[in-house]
Parts: sequence; C-alpha cells; structure tokens
Amino acid sequence: MARPLIISDCDGVLLEFCDPFIGYLAQVHGLTLKLETFALAGNIRHADGTAVAPEAFPALLDGFFNTHMATQTPVAHAGTALARLAEYCDVVVLTNIADHHAVMRTSELARVGMPYRVIGNNGPKGEPIRVLLDEYGPSHAVFIDDLPPHHTSAKKRVPHVHRLHMVAEAPLRHLIPAAADADARIDCWAEALTHIETLLKGPAT
Ligand SMILES: [Mg+2]
Repeated sequence: MARPLIISDCDGVLLEFCDPFIGYLAQVHGLTLKLETFALAGNIRHADGTAVAPEAFPALLDGFFNTHMATQTPVAHAGTALARLAEYCDVVVLTNIADHHAVMRTSELARVGMPYRVIGNNGPKGEPIRVLLDEYGPSHAVFIDDLPPHHTSAKKRVPHVHRLHMVAEAPLRHLIPAAADADARIDCWAEALTHIETLLKGPAT
C-alpha cells in the first residue's frame, strides 16, 4: 500500500544554520554577519565594516560545511515530529548542498536522531520532488522548506504536493515573509506535526 512521503529541507528547517554559520565566520575568518535583511551573501563584513564581496560567499559556505557542520544543532521538536511521521511515512531530506557534503549531512542528521535519506540538490527543488514522486508513488506528499523560491518551483512542477513554508530559525522569521506559493506557513514543528497529520488523514493526492 502506498505510504505518504515527507520531503523536508534541512538548513533552517531540521538544523539551525544561522547561529552556527555566524559562529564559524567569526571564529575562523574574523567576519561578522548581521541579519538585517535576508541576504546572507550581502551582509557579511570584515572587522573594519567593509562588506565581503558576494563572490566570496560560496567558498565561505563550503568551508562551513567542511569543518563546522557538526556545530549545527537540531531545530526544536524536528526530531520527534519526524520520528512520529516516519512510523508510517517515507521521509527524505532534500537539501541544497554539494554531493560530498550530503554524505556528511546524512551521518550528522543520524547522529542527532534523524536517520533519513538525504539528497543533495543544486537549484530549484520542483524537479527533484517530481523525481521522488515517481520513485515512491506516495499516497500523499508534503514538502517543507524555509525559502519561498522553492515553493514557487514546487508549485509549478508538482502542484498537487502540499507545500508547507516553515522558517524555524527565530532570527529569520521576521525577514522572510510567508511564501505566496505555499499552502501554509507554520514555523514550529509541534504545530506542523498536527497540521501534517490532519492532512494525511484526508483524501490521497
Ligand atoms: Mg533551508
């Protein structure tokens, strides 16, 4: 019998990203990141206040994942909510991260109680979600992500998948407005679990 499929982002949904990344920038590079707007690349500064060129951002992010991924702590209630869902759902983590980092991410998530399949992606998520639907043939599918463009991409490619916009990191909540292309905005996993379980009791998608 077909099972429901939960497709979740990782950074900012399952694992805290901002505080650990800010810590890495300060400790390793002597840089600061103040989240005054949701533009990570444009808000990183040297000690003298000058902005770090946006071109330097990918290398900083890569360095963070190389050496500091283990500093990312779980988002509150994410582990228990997913464990509950995993009793009767398939769970896949779809994360925009390079393939070699996805291997480490798999073990890091397992280490903190989220032992799920991890797929490293690059770019919009609509198409990889479509591929997962082909593979699993689920009864219902729910997609959870903190970034609005991924909901837009999912709506275009797989409009029947329920799209839950979750900004789990408190410092980002007021910087990221509700995604227009998501079906719901819920920033807390305890509430999201209730929402998802209600959906899963409804008609198959
Ligand atoms: Mg994210």
